[in-house]
Formats: sequence, C-alpha cells, structure tokens
Amino acid sequence: MGSATGFLDTARKENPFRDEAARLGDFEDLHIPNSGEIRFAQASRCMNCGVPFCQSDFGCPLHNLIPEWNDLLYRGQEREALNRLLRTAPFPEFTGHVCPALCEKACNLESSAVTNRDNELYLIETGFARGWIQPRIPAARTGKRVAVIGSGPSGLAAADLLNRLGHSVTVIERADRPGGLLMYGIPNMKLPKNLVERRIRLMEQEGIAFELNTEANPEELEGYDAVLLCGGARRPRSLNAEHMDARGVLFAVDYLTAATKAVLSGQASEASAEGKHVIVVGGGDTGNDCVGTALRQGCLSVTQLEMMPAPPEDRTPSNPWPEWPRVLRTDYGQTEAIFRQGEDPRIYETTVRQIRTDEENQVAGLETVRLRRTPEGKFEPVPGSERELPCGLLLIAAGFVGCEEKMLNRFALQSDARGRLMPADGSHHLTGKLFSAGDMRNGQSLVVRALADGRDAAREIDSRLRRVQ
Ligand SMILES: Cc1cc2nc3c(=O)[nH]c(=O)nc-3n(C[C@H](O)[C@H](O)[C@H](O)COP(=O)(O)OP(=O)(O)OC[C@H]3O[C@@H](n4cnc5c(N)ncnc54)[C@H](O)[C@@H]3O)c2cc1C
Ligand code: SF4
Repeated sequence: MGSATGFLDTARKENPFRDEAARLGDFEDLHIPNSGEIRFAQASRCMNCGVPFCQSDFGCPLHNLIPEWNDLLYRGQEREALNRLLRTAPFPEFTGHVCPALCEKACNLESSAVTNRDNELYLIETGFARGWIQPRIPAARTGKRVAVIGSGPSGLAAADLLNRLGHSVTVIERADRPGGLLMYGIPNMKLPKNLVERRIRLMEQEGIAFELNTEANPEELEGYDAVLLCGGARRPRSLNAEHMDARGVLFAVDYLTAATKAVLSGQASEASAEGKHVIVVGGGDTGNDCVGTALRQGCLSVTQLEMMPAPPEDRTPSNPWPEWPRVLRTDYGQTEAIFRQGEDPRIYETTVRQIRTDEENQVAGLETVRLRRTPEGKFEPVPGSERELPCGLLLIAAGFVGCEEKMLNRFALQSDARGRLMPADGSHHLTGKLFSAGDMRNGQSLVVRALADGRDAAREIDSRLRRVQ
C-alpha cells in the first residue's frame, strides 16, 4: 500500500484547468498536467482497501488493478505501474482524459478520492515520452480473420485484443478518420485528436488494418471468420416541433463533428456558432460539449434547455455511496458560460414549443415553455410560461434512441425495444458469425464501458474461433 498515512498527510490534488480566459481562446487541452512528484504523492493516498470499491462493479468497468499501480507509482516504479495498468486498460490516454472516473466516485475516500484518472494519464504519457510504449506484434498468427465494423472505443478495444491473440483484424469505418466519438463527437479540448491518431498509428504498426470511408457491406465480409458490429448508438432523439428541417437546426454530433473537422483542417466550421445566439436542447454532457464549442467559436450567447428539474446539490438517501452520485454538476462548458455571460446557461424544466424561421427558412428564434409534472408523472406545459428567445443556431442534444436503421437493414437484424443489438442470452453473439459490442449492444454509455465491452466481445470471439478449426 502507499504511505500508511498518505490520505491524512496529503490533500487530493487534480490536474488544474487552464483558466477560462485562456482556454476559451483555443481548442487545446483543458488541463495542465501536474508534475511527477505531485503524482507520486497523490498515489500515496491510496489505502489498498480490503474491499477496493474503485475496482468493483460500482467503480471501474475494466476492473483496473488500481491499488496495485497506485502503490507502484507512489514508490516511483513508474514502468512497473504502467505495466500493471496496461494489463486491463487498453488505452489509458483516452480514459485519462474523458472518463468520468467511476472508480473515484466509488473510492472509500469519497469526496477526497484518490486521483486515479490523473494518475493513469500520467503513467501512459510517461510511457510514451520515455519510449516504453512500442508496437506489440503477436509472435504467431492463428490464420483467422476478423472484421470489426466501427472504430469507436469498443471497436478499437476489440481489435487491439483480437490482434494480440493472434487473429488478423481489419477495422472498417465509414468516416474519414478512425476513432468514432473519440474523434468526431468529444471535442478536441477534452480529448486532443493527436492522441487518437498516435494510438491508431501504433495499432497499424501492430498489424491491424483500417479501411476508412467504407460503409460495411455484408456481401464483402464473406471471407471473414467473425464480424463484430461496433456501430454505436447514434440515432439521435429528435424534437416534436415544426421546422426541424430549417437551416441552423442541427443534431449535436453533426455540429461537434463539423467543429472538430474545422479544428483539424484549420478552416472555419461549416456550422459555426460565430455571431449567433445558440440554444442547446439537452442539459447533459453532450449539451455541455456544445456549450464549450459554441463559446470557442465566438457565439453571441449560449443557453441550455433541460426538461428535467435541476438535480439536488448533495446525494439523497436513495442514492448512497458507492453509487454514482446523481447530483448537480457544473461541467467545463457551463463554467465557461458563467465566466463569459455571468450566469449558468441552463434553464431547467423548460422545452421548445415552436421554432421560428425567417423567409429563407433559417432558424430565427424559439418559443419556449416551462414544464411541470402531472400526478401521473407526465410533463405538461405551464400555461402563461411561454417565452421568446432569439436563436440563430439550435443544437439538439436530447440523447440517443439506439443504433442506426441503416446498419440493421443492411445486416437484416432487428434491435430490441431500446434500439440495441443485445443478444437475449446476454452474450455478444447475434447470429452466425455476427457479434455486437459497445453502445450498439448496450445503448449510449461511456468510453470506459465501450472499452470493457469490446474486450469482452473479443474474448468471446476468440474462444469460438479456437473451437472451430
Ligand atoms: C458528444 C459526446 C460526448 C461524449 N463524451 C464522453 C465523455 O467525455 N466520456 C465518456 O466516457 N463518454 C462520452 N461519450 C460517450 C462515448 O463517446 C460513447 O459511449 C462511446 O464512444 C461508444 O463507443 P462505441 O465504440 O460503441 O461507438 P462510437 O464511438 O459511436 O463509434 C461507432 C463507429 O461506428 C461507425 N459506423 C457506424 N455505422 C457504420 C457502418 N455501417 N460502416 C462502417 N462504420 C460504421 C461510426 O462512424 C463510428 O465511428 C460522449 C458521447 C457524445 C455523443
Ligand atoms: S477505494 Fe480508493 S483508497 Fe481504496 S484502494 Fe481504491 S482508490 Fe485506493
């Protein structure tokens, strides 16, 4: 275990954010990494608990060996710590940036939890900087070919493990760059895209083939021994309003994709918020990413509408530790909006009633209305609460309702009532040589869950391929 009194001697210290004024001027990383000395001291706070909740089902879905690598990090044995981390975590540079750190919410130290996410990021970046991360090419090949459809975190994690197990893997991706929502969805300031590209280059050196700009076609997959569908849960929930086809009305992922393409090309975004009043429908994490992006693009104002009431500031008795705390969080984008506009951009219990358009079918404003719950638990508008808001860009970040119809039709598959390709027996096997993983199987979730599910699917495919000679 780290220092016997580490958690008493040292306060929790996360990697600090760059201040708002600086970070709003670019799309660079939100954080400044702390030094190695600080990380060693932070690792000393881990108490190697008898029941390490951080590692349990309440905590890390990858079941990372957190107390073990924290202890090694505290002792300055960074390379051993990294090797221990890599036993379960395929891409710590992704989770080290974007994971909501379920392990920290489940940590026995509760609100002063060990900084596991920053510690893992330190370990992997130290590994890259010191040349410890080298391509790991399998010593022998099994002769089996696996196609992975979709290059998001689930597809990448599955491809990585299948390749290590000796299978020949081709990742087929319809976008022009690999990474799924890691590339086009999560903004650059939250996950710099050079990190995604660095990992893809490494995977190519390890023998994985990437076919980009390619829509999966079942007829072209006949030569493969197994096909893993990792197409995500990308069908967005829409609004029940007229003029959804107006110019300036966009789904969040389309807007964020255009923003990242602009950052990577150095050109202006084809859907920029510059000089516009922006309204984001949806108060969640995707909406927050839209807020941060719109502010960086130079919007006139940004407002976030949320149907639900504001969550409580503290845990309620029905939501005890070590469960994920369902409490009010103010994320980076909202903090930036408060800095720029002087108030929280979120308006709760409110929705869009009408989209106003001009003579060129461009969105020009919104009528919003407040909502209240009926005794039956339904939402109803509050009479007289209508309000007009100016709007030049309306972004819909109201969640996702499952995987895309196109993929289902092409493969002659049917999703369940929640739009998922979840096999009834809880496995990853759909039919014949088809498997599913990630958000496509489980519904929209988290990067770390997609990674864990991709690895589980890879193990299942491997054991089937080894049985069938
Ligand atoms: C805006 C946004 C921000 C998010 N931020 C976070 C965060 O900070 N932290 C976090 O943990 N989670 C976050 N999430 C959730 C997380 O990104 C997803 O849960 C995760 O990416 C799911 O991974 P996946 O591999 O299942 O699917 P995806 O990442 O959706 O990847 C699916 C891939 O399949 C490809 N594809 C689909 N159909 C085909 C086809 N027919 N042929 C070829 N390719 C195809 C797509 O182009 C895509 O590249 C965020 C989600 C969104 C939308
Ligand atoms: S619960 Fe917290 S203190 Fe205990 S082993 Fe896990 S990270 Fe360390």
